[in-house]
Amino acid sequence: MKIVKTFSFDLAHMLDGHDGKCRNLHGHTYKLEVEISGSLAQGGAKDGMVMDFADVKACVKHWVAEPFDHAFVYNRHSERESRLAALLQNWQLKTVAMDKRTTAENMAQHMFCLLRQQGGLNVSAIRLWETPTSYCEYTGANHD
Ligand SMILES: [Zn+2]
Repeated sequence: MKIVKTFSFDLAHMLDGHDGKCRNLHGHTYKLEVEISGSLAQGGAKDGMVMDFADVKACVKHWVAEPFDHAFVYNRHSERESRLAALLQNWQLKTVAMDKRTTAENMAQHMFCLLRQQGGLNVSAIRLWETPTSYCEYTGANHD
């Protein structure tokens, strides 16, 4: 059985070195779908559930939706993005560092790992919508 819960948050990023307009600082309203697989609990308070939607919500909010919302998400290996992040941090503004370029694909992979490893969620897929017509899906299989 699979359950899916959807979240939404806004963030700013830039793709340093991109050959188009995404090299500029800009933002998106992302939609995140978190899919969790498992068998149904038997008995007790969670009888008949893969996982309580309220518990999914609390975990995803804590590890992803709240930290990323209205943050500048940047690639710590990009000098220009890191300099911009340092400026914002000096002003006590919100930033999130990643180890890779902040494409939707890399962010989906990063969020998948955060939720599985830090959040302990049995995530089977992440779908990250960058625009209403563009999304990527990451399932952890072979890390591609
Ligand atoms: Zn973008």
